[in-house]
Amino acid sequence: AVDLSECLPGRVLRVHGLESVVEAEDARRYRCGVRRVLKNLAIEGRNVVAVGDRVWFRPVGEDQGLIEKVEPRSGTVTRGYRHREHVIVSNVDQLLIVSAFAEPELKLPLIDRYLISAEKGGVRPVIVLNKADLVPLADYQWVFGLYAQLGYEVIPCSASDGLGVDRLREVLASGTTALSGQSGVGKTSLLNAVQPGLNLRVGEVSSWTRKGTHTTTYAELLRLQQGGYVVDTPGLRQFQLWDVEPWELEQYFIEFRPYIPHCRFPDCSHIHEADCSVKVALSREQIHEGRYESYLKLYHQQPIEGEG
Ligand code: GDP
Ligand code: ZN
Repeated sequence: AVDLSECLPGRVLRVHGLESVVEAEDARRYRCGVRRVLKNLAIEGRNVVAVGDRVWFRPVGEDQGLIEKVEPRSGTVTRGYRHREHVIVSNVDQLLIVSAFAEPELKLPLIDRYLISAEKGGVRPVIVLNKADLVPLADYQWVFGLYAQLGYEVIPCSASDGLGVDRLREVLASGTTALSGQSGVGKTSLLNAVQPGLNLRVGEVSSWTRKGTHTTTYAELLRLQQGGYVVDTPGLRQFQLWDVEPWELEQYFIEFRPYIPHCRFPDCSHIHEADCSVKVALSREQIHEGRYESYLKLYHQQPIEGEG
């Protein structure tokens, strides 16, 4: 066991190779290396320390330290798989799925895809629909209804006129949030609205990642004044958060769950089989047609417009 006396708990904000920036509970930041024993873990291809990790570190002087222990991770966003898995961010509580009502056009299959990933990753999804100022909201009641019925929160927002920004601030204050969504939907603008003074540059992909860093897995935790952390990474925007196999999909379309045990074939794909309970539910409009279409697209691994 590692001797943790004289160590401080902290959160990893950034990682550059084997060096990371760790924030202590008093918000002081330390540039930390990793203890030798921990370093050896890197040989297996995994990163020893990831953005979002909760760690114990031994301070050395004013602003440096040595990481002695990494707490077990949850809610990890990864790239690659199995033993080659690389953790991009750890300890994420929620996934903010940002779309726009218009410019770019609202694409529900894309939202569904992010929802599946959140379900699989065990991260609470929250749907944000931005640019409400561009459309008559009444036309979209059915969208709110559809997702609310499934138990997902939908926040209509406008970074331009401030609609929904207070609610968004509350949601973000509750933990660590990963941002996702196509470029141009207004993620940067919304963060600037949530925290004026952040001055993130709008209209630039990965506007607040550091200049000169071109890796797509680069991530950084940003602490919000009102509480909470957000992480926005080009890697997440490009989107392959958690790989989902076709046969796994049914369990992440949460409204399918009650029907699945009633299908005649235990391995029913709910596409062409006889006596499929999911399709019966679809014909009775107990399952929304659009959601079923998203299921088909994802099952056949068809690209969804707006991805990548
Ligand atoms: P990101 O790529 O998702 O970070 O999107 P940006 O924040 O860079 O915004 C993309 C464009 O949409 C910019 O021209 C913004 O000014 C514009 N925009 C962002 N939010 C809104 C909004 O609520 N309403 C309108 N009309 N435009 C917005
Ligand atoms: Zn079926």
